[in-house]
Amino acid sequence: MTFRDFGLDEGLLEGIDASGYENATPVQEQVIPIILNGKDLIASAQTGTGKTAAFLLPIINKLLASRHDDQVNALVIVPTRELAIQIAQNLEGLSYFTPISSIAVYGGGDGSNFSNEKQALSKGADIVICTPGRMIAHLNMGYVKMKGLQFLVLDEADRMLDMGFFDDIMKIISFLPPKRQNLLFSATMPVKIRELARKILHEPEEVNIAISKPPAKIVQKAFVVYETQKNPLVKWLLKSTNLKSTLIFCSKKHNVKQLTAELKRARFNVKEIHSDLDQASREDVLLEFKSRRLPILVATDILSRGIDIDSIEMVINYDVPNDGEDYIHRIGRTARAETDGIAFTFISEKEQNKFNSIEALLGKPVDKEPVPEEFGPAPEYTPRSKSNRSGGGRGGNRRNFKPSGNSGNRSSGGHGHSGNRSGHGQSGQRHGGHSGHGNSGHGSGHGGGQGNRGSKPA
Ligand code: AMP
Repeated sequence: MTFRDFGLDEGLLEGIDASGYENATPVQEQVIPIILNGKDLIASAQTGTGKTAAFLLPIINKLLASRHDDQVNALVIVPTRELAIQIAQNLEGLSYFTPISSIAVYGGGDGSNFSNEKQALSKGADIVICTPGRMIAHLNMGYVKMKGLQFLVLDEADRMLDMGFFDDIMKIISFLPPKRQNLLFSATMPVKIRELARKILHEPEEVNIAISKPPAKIVQKAFVVYETQKNPLVKWLLKSTNLKSTLIFCSKKHNVKQLTAELKRARFNVKEIHSDLDQASREDVLLEFKSRRLPILVATDILSRGIDIDSIEMVINYDVPNDGEDYIHRIGRTARAETDGIAFTFISEKEQNKFNSIEALLGKPVDKEPVPEEFGPAPEYTPRSKSNRSGGGRGGNRRNFKPSGNSGNRSSGGHGHSGNRSGHGQSGQRHGGHSGHGNSGHGSGHGGGQGNRGSKPA
């Protein structure tokens, strides 16, 4: 199905085209007509399915006909700053040829961010993408123009509840006009999400895109090791693959720091990202990695969800993630859209049971690679749970595997522009090197020269 089939605005179709999208993804096929129809929606869809555009496109299309210039017209609430920034970038690509303005509102920046946000929120911005705490800070000050709000989106709602944002979400909603269209997206649908949906949504349509299964094109492998074998094995993997883009996950900040230091000592070009870094450093590192100037990034689960980085060739789980959803989110960082990828998980002896539960969720065992002989004997995979004693065997003899080719170079994320064609007052301000998210639309007057208008998304 093409985007033209939805009857979208020509300017929007141009932005879709420039973003490199040809056909609608399954979630887009289902969700876009429901939103265009004015219905509330509850959708279970993982990141990587194209869910962001699934809600942005119909919202932009509807706002083109109904936006109030001096109001916040749509509010998208998300769990993390990184996701807010990413959605804002996606939005700028898609809305590039429309007069829609947007701003990302999230904590952690310096004081100038806050005053830019304040200015935008008090003059109105078509679409605001926010993290809960920062939005409440603005709402409490009384200047946010919310009377004209038409759309509320809760993205990664399960993650927001896990992070304890329920009360914050309800508080934000108390500032919104009651008549609005509500859209809730969640990777999982536990009972508490159903409860939230009952409180917020009005006769919602429901869309379920099969969840909790990683895309088939991700090649999954595991190494059964002793804890002490993990560091040498990471180095061996990095050396023998020599890829342009590898993301390594550790559950604990402490491990991220230690592993990064160890890899630096071994002269790998590597950096770390975790919540101890300030916002600007996080953005810088992420940008370096996204643009492939940095080949290896070691991260906590801060990066496991929502964050879209094109063409990560390999994900290494230095440890077994805490649950199946986290595993799927982590390995889903590779093989985005049209690219292929490989994901390795290191399973120490005490992590075998945890990994076994993940395999149960996946519905099949993950292939175990033999640990190279130079690292000495490795443990057997014998998780206690009876269900999967064989554990997929230790078969295979692929010491020199080659990650399946990395074809894609889709244009997405990090669209290199910050203005829009109509010059709807975009200030084109940049935060920490990201391309123009958080354009307040109010800083430099209409068509101010700062917007990078010449650079159409690739
Ligand atoms: P999301 O699930 O929203 O995080 O999207 C995952 C990735 O797919 C992002 O890089 C999007 O830009 C990209 N994407 C979304 N929709 C499409 C589409 N219809 N065709 C190709 N890529 C898309």
